[in-house]
Parts: sequence; structure tokens; C-alpha cells
Amino acid sequence: MMRVSELAALRLWESDPGRSPLARARAFLTEVATPEIATSAAPAAVDRLAVGTRNFRVLRAYAETFGPRVPCEVACPACDSRLELEIDVRELIAAYREPPESVTVRHDGRDYSARVPTDADLGAAIEQHAGAEGLFARCALAPAPEEWPAAAIAAIESAMAAADPLAQIDLALRCPDCAHGWPAPFDALAVLYDRLAAQAQGLLLDVHRLARAYGWREADILAMAPARREHYLALLGA
Ligand SMILES: [Zn+2]
Repeated sequence: MMRVSELAALRLWESDPGRSPLARARAFLTEVATPEIATSAAPAAVDRLAVGTRNFRVLRAYAETFGPRVPCEVACPACDSRLELEIDVRELIAAYREPPESVTVRHDGRDYSARVPTDADLGAAIEQHAGAEGLFARCALAPAPEEWPAAAIAAIESAMAAADPLAQIDLALRCPDCAHGWPAPFDALAVLYDRLAAQAQGLLLDVHRLARAYGWREADILAMAPARREHYLALLGA
């Protein structure tokens, strides 16, 4: 079960550390306990997850909490026309496979190995404003990063994308107006957080209406089954 409960959504929303992907990933993975991570969900264990595995869990949590479809609106980069589409996260989830810890490619008779990036690697690269180069320097295992020719770096990047396909999700979009095609990045964590924020704010509005009408305590209203809460709101004509 990866469903995000109402209370978990509220906690994630009110403690949202402002769009930092690593902090959000940690909060989400710690809050939504998963059997694969030890019961304590220690931050260290969470940080060691491959980015694709984290995205896989985020997408599953989205599907189980809000259903599989994500409504999106994007602007065509060529003609600026607005596209409204629905992403089916089940299709993205189906692309998941458990990434290996490291990947090796052979170039000019020499082996080049690198670790599959984790949330900790991604977080460090972002914090140090090191970009893709910084991420590569953290993850290169052998030889040392400065000994890699550009062709080996390109080869390992393709091998990484194949080994951890959900690490970076790009949607292949095509504009119906001008036929321009482009890869649009899909940030699963941001999509989930936006939806959780909307849910949390809706929940607080319900609490506000019920507390004002009946004088009930917030904790009692939140403890109520959603169906019962809905019923009282309907009685109020809200
Ligand atoms: Zn267009």
C-alpha cells in the first residue's frame, strides 16, 4: 500500500521544505512507509535509493491516492499553443525496472564504471550547483572522472538511462497545431506534491466549515471518516 492518507498529506504539505527535491523525497519516503525500506525508514536508507526507484514509489503513491490519471497543461515551445493532456502514470510505472547499483560500459578496450545516481547524489549536485558534471564526478567509480573521454561519458549516460529508466522521465509530446515534437520532462515528485497541497487545502476548508457550523475540534473533524464528513458538509449545503 502506498496510498497517502489525509493526515500524511497534511503533514507533507505543512512541512514542505520548499521544492527541494531531496528534502521532498526524504519527507515523502519517510512518511509513506514502504515495506522495502526498513521500518524506521532512516534518512540514510532513503538517500541510497536510486532516483528511478524513488520516482517509481512516488508514481505508485499518486496512482493509489488520486487514481492513475494526471491532468497536465503545457505550452508548445514552438508555437506557444496550450496543450491539455492526461498522463496515465500506469504507463510510466510499467517502464520501471529495479536499477543495478552500478553500470559498466566498454570503450576503446577499457571498462568504465559508474554508480547509478541516488537522491543523495542528486541532492548534493543541486546543493553545490554542480549540474550534470558534478553528478557524474560523484558517481564515476573507475577510472577517476578526469580520465573519462567524452565518448565514454556519453555511453555511460545511455547505459544509465536504460538501467534506470524512471530516473528522468521525458514525455514524447507532439503539438496538434504545428506538429512540433519535443521531450517534456515530467517531475513526478512535483506533480505529487502539487496534488497533495490541493488536497490538504481542501481538507482545511472542510475543517473550517464544520468547526464554524458545529463548534467541533479540528482533531475530531480530522479523525472522522471522510464519508461522514462529506455527509455533514452536504447537510450544511456547503
Ligand atoms: Zn505547436
